[in-house]
Amino acid sequence: MTTRLTPDICVIGGGSGGLSVAAAAAAFGVEVVLIEKGKMGGDCLNYGCVPSKAMIAAGKHAHAIAEAPQFGVSAGEVKVDFRKVHNHVHSVIGAIGPNDSVERFRAMGVNVIEAAAHFTDKSTVLAGDTEIRARRFVIATGSSAFVPPIPGLDTVDYLTNETLFERTRAPKHLIVIGGGPIGMEMAQAHRRLGAEVTVIEGFKALGKDDPELAAIVLDNIRAEGVAILEGSKVTLVEKRGKTGVRVHYESDSGAGQIDGSDLLVAAGRLANVEGLGLDKAGIEHDRRGIKVGANLRSSNSRVYAIGDVAGGLQFTHVAGYHAGLVVQQILFRAPARENRDIIPWATYTDPELAHVGLTEEEAAKRHGGRISVLRWPYAENDRAQSERKTRGLIKMVVDRKARILGVSIAGAGAGEMINMWALAITNGMKLKDVRGYVPPYPTMAEIGKRAAITYYAPMTRKPFVRWLVRFLRRFG
Ligand SMILES: Cc1cc2nc3c(=O)[nH]c(=O)nc-3n(C[C@H](O)[C@H](O)[C@H](O)COP(=O)(O)OP(=O)(O)OC[C@H]3O[C@@H](n4cnc5c(N)ncnc54)[C@H](O)[C@@H]3O)c2cc1C
Repeated sequence: MTTRLTPDICVIGGGSGGLSVAAAAAAFGVEVVLIEKGKMGGDCLNYGCVPSKAMIAAGKHAHAIAEAPQFGVSAGEVKVDFRKVHNHVHSVIGAIGPNDSVERFRAMGVNVIEAAAHFTDKSTVLAGDTEIRARRFVIATGSSAFVPPIPGLDTVDYLTNETLFERTRAPKHLIVIGGGPIGMEMAQAHRRLGAEVTVIEGFKALGKDDPELAAIVLDNIRAEGVAILEGSKVTLVEKRGKTGVRVHYESDSGAGQIDGSDLLVAAGRLANVEGLGLDKAGIEHDRRGIKVGANLRSSNSRVYAIGDVAGGLQFTHVAGYHAGLVVQQILFRAPARENRDIIPWATYTDPELAHVGLTEEEAAKRHGGRISVLRWPYAENDRAQSERKTRGLIKMVVDRKARILGVSIAGAGAGEMINMWALAITNGMKLKDVRGYVPPYPTMAEIGKRAAITYYAPMTRKPFVRWLVRFLRRFG
């Protein structure tokens, strides 16, 4: 028998974006239905950010042991028990999971339905045997790994982000198709945990980031022993023996093949629009996702789309930001528009790579070339020297009035350091706002202030003057 519900809001998808909308609506006493067909918490908790960062943390510990002799400390040979790494990853998911659980959301007053949802017309969604006619719908169905149509790929047991973290044995030789943030993070983590790793990338690895900074990260990952083949297109995948794979590729320098024990496909993401009945609901969409305006409304004015399915930047903090914008419009009837220029992102390789605002290229285009680019290397920072984390650079782009347009950082703690610059850019701050603040010594955050000061004192861009500034700062 069909149950009929008429809540204020119906959210489809219980991941980063959907949970935030549902929690906010419930907190304001608004009647809300949340529909989730898989695991609450979505990709981020179960197959994305959380397990990947937990695995990176395991790799970091292994690497720290290997590096310890440089500090006069020795912990012996690095030994990795991959089953225990798996247990660590899943215990982290388990620790965070209760925050996103069905029980917690029901206790908040959210009506959680565990089923797949689809539209049957412009204002009705069906989930199992429940029919929902809501005042507003929010689609937050996320994205899935894009599996390219490579001949032979369907004949092997390839891994994606949904299966990678289930492994209890270390791969002997992991081949990764795709050198984006997910591919590079997992390549380095597995290398540090003892696997041989080859990354095959069709264009440039970490190609969405500033090439000068991406090069710093890629050089380090290569130095740790990961083979990164750029400009190489995979042409064929074959089974090799019982469980192995052979990957054929072509590049400008000719064709080649690599044998591996495991294959990870990390070749981009596809928005989850299939099976949602979007055409029946008059919701325009394409391969990239649901088409939305800056207010995140779809072509059906009753329906919003947020997070990965909205076809823009695909990060958990973006899904959370979108949720806030949608809540503002639905609950308070206040206009809200997405501003992509203030959204930071970070790749959690070692060194980390982070960015916010305009890249040098974008800024030059928008400001007709009237920009200044400021830099400061990690090697000129005392804390970075003490920690032996000297590989890195901050790069800052400012306009003619010294307004900060964009900041990119490659180096230790870049994902943390970018926070301050995200705040600066969100608030339209200028370099003079940074000039006056006092960072504690010795911190790596000083690197940002040093870069800012070079704007006023171009002489400090010279190595000797940089040395003098550091000397005076320490003893002056
Ligand atoms: C390996 C990896 C690492 C990542 N690391 C980071 C990181 O470090 N930082 C970061 O910011 N981002 C990271 N991301 C991206 C991040 O996971 C996503 O941007 C984020 O999860 C998107 O949130 P969402 O709400 O749009 O979708 P999701 O969190 O994926 O939630 C979508 C939910 O909708 C459900 N659903 C789909 N269709 C239906 C349907 N028809 N009916 C009912 N339910 C449905 C799904 O089951 C899923 O639970 C990573 C992603 C991956 C794959």
